[in-house]
Amino acid sequence: MVLAEMGDRIKGALQQMRNATVVDERVFTECLNEISRALMAADVQIRMIGTMQANIRKIVNLKERAAGHNKRKIIQQAVFDELCCMLDPGKPVFVPRKGQPTVVMFVGLQGSGKTTTCAKYASYYQRKGWKPALVCADTFRAGAFDQLKQNAEKVRVPFYGSYTETDPVKVAEEGVERFKKERCDMIVVDTSGRHKQEAALFEEMRQVAEVTNPDLVVFVMDSSIGQAAFDQAQAFKQSVAVGAVVVTKMDGHAKGGGALSAVAATKSPVIFLGTGEHMDEFEAFEAKGFVSRLLGVGDLSGLMDRIQEAVPLDQQFETGKKLQEGNLTLRSWCELNQISIQTMGPVLMSKGGEKEGQAKFKRYMTMMDSMTAEELDSTNPCKLMKDSRINRIARGSGRHLHDVHEMLEAFRKFKEMVPAKMLKGLKNSKSGGMN
Ligand code: GDP
Repeated sequence: MVLAEMGDRIKGALQQMRNATVVDERVFTECLNEISRALMAADVQIRMIGTMQANIRKIVNLKERAAGHNKRKIIQQAVFDELCCMLDPGKPVFVPRKGQPTVVMFVGLQGSGKTTTCAKYASYYQRKGWKPALVCADTFRAGAFDQLKQNAEKVRVPFYGSYTETDPVKVAEEGVERFKKERCDMIVVDTSGRHKQEAALFEEMRQVAEVTNPDLVVFVMDSSIGQAAFDQAQAFKQSVAVGAVVVTKMDGHAKGGGALSAVAATKSPVIFLGTGEHMDEFEAFEAKGFVSRLLGVGDLSGLMDRIQEAVPLDQQFETGKKLQEGNLTLRSWCELNQISIQTMGPVLMSKGGEKEGQAKFKRYMTMMDSMTAEELDSTNPCKLMKDSRINRIARGSGRHLHDVHEMLEAFRKFKEMVPAKMLKGLKNSKSGGMN
């Protein structure tokens, strides 16, 4: 995974700073310089990097004055916060409401991955229980309708388009009308792209927007353009009310970091990342979770938000309560992992990527199948697991002893990572049950 390289360099710089006997000006500057080099390699704009460096210095100087603070922690936190800041436009994102007809129109240049993204987006909502539909209003590119149709069939989402109609405005209007009548609650409209930003493209976008009256306009852009994303996103924003951005091909380009930060600088929220050609290679994006994964610090607050979004209230209550009480067991850890895979999408930053993460999780599940209820529900399984139990689990699941040890170690690390202050910060769930 390309961005993993940037993450590894930043992590390495922080690790070196942590390992230093004394964190003096030289160590601090070297840490900041290495982080800057990592960002530069990802095509983040020099000016942004300069601002980030200055902000980190300011925060560290200020906080350091307060006695009793750990400089290493202050620096780490400042780097984390500034990276989040760089990727977060600070604008709320439109959240569609299930059950109400929502029209989302996709715009972007030809080849950006727009048609693929439309199908991925519809499929994402379908997996969450929505009733999506796809409308192909791209009458400019030959084969656009066939491509959308193929993708729509792949993900089993109804679609609308025409081989003969040349007016995209008419097709868009008819498609949206039809799917509203069919009570679809997520109507995705794919519009034409061109090779260049040109007046005809923008005029067509405006006309399609006029007849379909979209709740959200999503701009799709290819990450390979890096910091040039700023100008492209600005140009589209000026012509149509872009409410969110999807950055595609994050799997193939070293410039992803530059593209993401440049889009944030236009004050447009990035909502998803395209991470491959397949329909499920699509990740919801949120700055804090992204940086957490980039730096390998685990995003528990984000995970709790997602639990609240995706899990029935009674299960939410149980899982949240166990976490809060520090009573995490292998069983509830497994539930959390399931939730995070379902709702957070693949772990983009992990070196082995989604497949390796999921394979590991499957191994853990197989081993858990060979455990007793006592082992699964113990709040301290590492202590409980004597050699005889470990042998039995390994034999029963057809795994090696070291696999069982690895799982227990991963559980121990996760438990250690759940800091009390994070748990205190958990939001109340709608039932009021999380606190
Ligand atoms: P459009 O012209 O903007 O509609 O772009 P398409 O959806 O036709 O995509 C152009 C090419 O990019 C196709 O070959 C897609 O399979 C590919 N593509 C789209 N999204 C991604 C992505 O996230 N990663 C990779 N590697 N390829 C992608």
